[in-house]
Amino acid sequence: MSTSATKQATNGSGPAPAGGSRAVGNGASVRMSAISAVTNWQPVSAPLNFVETPTQELFCANVFSRSVMKDRLPKTVYQSVIKTIESGEKLDSSVADVVASAMKDWAIEKGATHYAHVFFPLTGATAEKHDSFLSPDGDGSAIAEFTGAQLIQGEPDGSSFPTGGIRQTFEARGYTIWDVTSPAYLLENANGTTLCIPTAFVSWTGEALDKKTPVLRSMQALNEQAQRILKLFGHTDGATVSSTAGPEQEYFLVDRNFFFARPDLLTAGRTLFGAPAPKGQEFDDHYFGAIPDRVLAFMLDVERELFKLGIPVKTRHNEVAPGQYEIAPVFESANTATDHQQLMMSTMRRVAEQYGMACLTHEKPFAGLNGSGKHVNWSLGSSSQGNLLDPGDTPHANAQFLVFCAAVIRAVHKYQGVLRAVVASAGNDHRLGANEAPPAIISVFLGDQLTDVFKQIKGGGANSSIEKGTLTVGADVLPPLPKDAGDRNRTSPFAFTGNRFEFRAVGANQSIAGPLVAMNTIVAESLDFCATQLEEATGGDSAKLHEAVQALLTEIINEAEPVIFNGDGYSEEWHQEAAQRGLLNLKTAADALPVLGAPEVAELFSKYNVLSERELESRLETYLEQYCMTIQVEAKLTVEMARTMIFPAAVRYQSELATTCANLKAVGYDFDTDTLDQVTRLVKQLQDGIAVLEKALHHNDADDTKAEARHCCEAVLPAMATVRNMADQLEGWVADDLWPLPTYQEMLFIK
Ligand code: ADP
Ligand code: MG
Repeated sequence: MSTSATKQATNGSGPAPAGGSRAVGNGASVRMSAISAVTNWQPVSAPLNFVETPTQELFCANVFSRSVMKDRLPKTVYQSVIKTIESGEKLDSSVADVVASAMKDWAIEKGATHYAHVFFPLTGATAEKHDSFLSPDGDGSAIAEFTGAQLIQGEPDGSSFPTGGIRQTFEARGYTIWDVTSPAYLLENANGTTLCIPTAFVSWTGEALDKKTPVLRSMQALNEQAQRILKLFGHTDGATVSSTAGPEQEYFLVDRNFFFARPDLLTAGRTLFGAPAPKGQEFDDHYFGAIPDRVLAFMLDVERELFKLGIPVKTRHNEVAPGQYEIAPVFESANTATDHQQLMMSTMRRVAEQYGMACLTHEKPFAGLNGSGKHVNWSLGSSSQGNLLDPGDTPHANAQFLVFCAAVIRAVHKYQGVLRAVVASAGNDHRLGANEAPPAIISVFLGDQLTDVFKQIKGGGANSSIEKGTLTVGADVLPPLPKDAGDRNRTSPFAFTGNRFEFRAVGANQSIAGPLVAMNTIVAESLDFCATQLEEATGGDSAKLHEAVQALLTEIINEAEPVIFNGDGYSEEWHQEAAQRGLLNLKTAADALPVLGAPEVAELFSKYNVLSERELESRLETYLEQYCMTIQVEAKLTVEMARTMIFPAAVRYQSELATTCANLKAVGYDFDTDTLDQVTRLVKQLQDGIAVLEKALHHNDADDTKAEARHCCEAVLPAMATVRNMADQLEGWVADDLWPLPTYQEMLFIK
C-alpha cells in the first residue's frame, strides 16, 4: 500500500499567460488565469484508488496508534501507557525509553528522517520544531537515535511567541512535554516524512504557555466533579469521565489566482474591499448543492490525508454561501479532537494548494455573505456510563441525566460572559450577531421536550415526557419515520441537539481549545455545586436522593431560567427581551475579552487548577493584543490598497472620461458628465476617508491594551468601513478593464 503518493502540481493552477497586453496583476488578467485554471483543471497525478487501498486500510496508517503500540511494545509497557491514556494516571517515566525506541523504529520504517515536538502557542496556530534522528557517531557515519528523554521533553526556544507577560525574552526557557494521550503521527511531504509528537508547552516556571495544557487540566477538573455526581447515583467504578468534542468546520475555497491578486486575502485572510455580486446566496442554490468537480476532488484528497492521520472525517457538504463548504469528523475526546482540529485546518490549506485553490478559514472572508463558524459539539461520558447527556426516551425519569443537564444550563447562565469571551476575536466580530450567526447574546436552546420537563420540575415535579411521534408524509410510497421529540433550532448559540450541546458561536479560524476549556471548567464548577448540595442533603443516605435532586433542580431552574430561549435568536425582539431578562450582550471582542479579567473568573479558573491568575491574565493580555494587531494590519492594508490600487484606477478612469468630454466638446458634441461627476465625488470622498483612517491609525495607547482595543473598535474599524464604502461604490462605476482587484462575482462563482 502506498500512503505517500507524491503529487505533481495541478495543471493550470499556475498563473496562466495574461490575455492580450494587460499587465499581470490587473483584475482582468487574473480573471483569465483563473478561468484557465478552472477549465484546464486535471486531477492530481495519483488518482485516489479506493479499490486498491480501501479507506479502512488507510485509517490510522500514519498514526502510532494503540494497535501499533500493542504490536511493538512489551506488554507491561503497553499496559502502563494505556493506563495513562485511559485513566489519566501519572506516566511512569521509565517506560519512555522503550516507547521512544519503538516509535523511532516504526517511524523510520515508514520513511521518517526527523521528529518534531508539536505544540500549540497562544496565537492559535500550530508550532513545530524539527530535529533529525541522526547523530554523528564520530567515525564519519551517523546513527539513528531517539531516547526517552528526547520523547518526553524538548526545549524549543520559542521565546517570540506571545506570552502576555509570563515570560520575558531574557528568561526564554520553555519546554515541550510529551502528551501521551494524543497519538504521535507521521506528516508526509513530497521530500520526506516527519514523526510528530503532540506536546504541552510550558515556561521554565511551569506555567502554561499554550492552549493544550489548560485543556488537559480542565478535563481533569471535569472528571473529578463528575465522579462525585456518579457516586451519588451509585456508580463507583471510577471509569474516567472525559469531555468529548465534535467540531464542524466551515470554510471557503477560491481559485489561487484570485487569492494572490488580492493582498487583503493574502495578508488578512478576508476581503477588505469588494462590492456585492449581483447574485449572492439569496437563491440558496449552493446550499447542499452538487459539489463542483475540482472541489470534490479536493475533499476526497483531504479526507484521505485525514484518514491516514486517524482523523475520522464523516460529513461533507456545500454550505449556504457560494464557494462555502463544511467538513465534520466524528467526535473524539476533547484533547485529541483539539489536536485533530488543528491538523485538519493545516491539511485543508495544504491540499487546497495542490488543487490550485486557497482554503479560507477566516470568519468573514466576504462581506454580505454568510460567514464561517465552527460548531463545537460537546458532551461528557465514560466507558461504563456512556454519554452522560443522553436523555433516553423518558428524560423526566432520568434523574442522573437531569442533574448533568441542569448543571450545564446553570453553568451557561452563570458564566455567559466567559463563553462570550472565549469566542471573541477580531474575525469573529464580523460574524456574531450578523443575522446568519448566533447573536453575541449567549442563551441555551433546550427544545420542546426538555423545556417541558424543566417546566414541570419548576411546578413541583416532572411526571411525563413529550413522546416522540411518527412523521407521516402523505405519500404512501414513503415510509413513516420516527419523529424527534423536538424541532431543531439554527439560531441559538448554545443548543441541546439530542445528546450533546452544540456551541455555535465559535469562529472558523479559532482553536477549539479555548471554548472547550471554558465549557469543561464552568461545568466542573456547576457539578461541584450540585454534588455539594446533594451530598449535604442526603448525608450519605441514598433514600433521600430523589427528594434532594428535585430540590436541586428546582433551585437551578428558578435561577437559570432566563438563559433558556427556544425562539429566533436573530430577531430584534430577542435583543430587547434578552436585555429585560438581564442577559449580557457583549457585542464586540473589545467588550467581551475584559470579562477574563473579572475577579470571579480568575477565582473560577484557579479554584479548579485550570489557569492560575497569572496564566489567565497573560491570556487576556495576549488576546487583546492580537485583536489590536489584527485590526491595525487590516487598517494599514486598507490604506495601502485604497491608495495604490483603487485610487489610481479611479483617476485613470476619471481622466479617460474627462478626455472624452473635452474631445467631444471640441467637435461640438455635448457630453453628459453624470458618470464623471459621480467618479469625481467618490474619488474625493475616498481620499478624505483615507486621511481619517490614517489619523485613527496613528493613535497609540501602547501601555493600555484595553483602551487600545476600544480605539481599534470605535475609531479604526468605522474609518476602514468608510474607505471601503467609497471604494465599493467606485467599483460600480470604473471600467472593468481598469479595476485592479478580482471581484466578488469572480471569486465566488469561477470554481
Ligand atoms: P449537524 O450539522 O446537523 O449539526 P453534523 O453531523 O454535521 O450535524 O455534526 C454533528 C457533530 O456532533 C459530529 O461531529 C458528531 O460526531 C458530534 N457528536 C455526536 N455525538 C457527540 C457527543 N456525544 N459529544 C460530542 N460530539 C458529538
Ligand atoms: Mg451542527
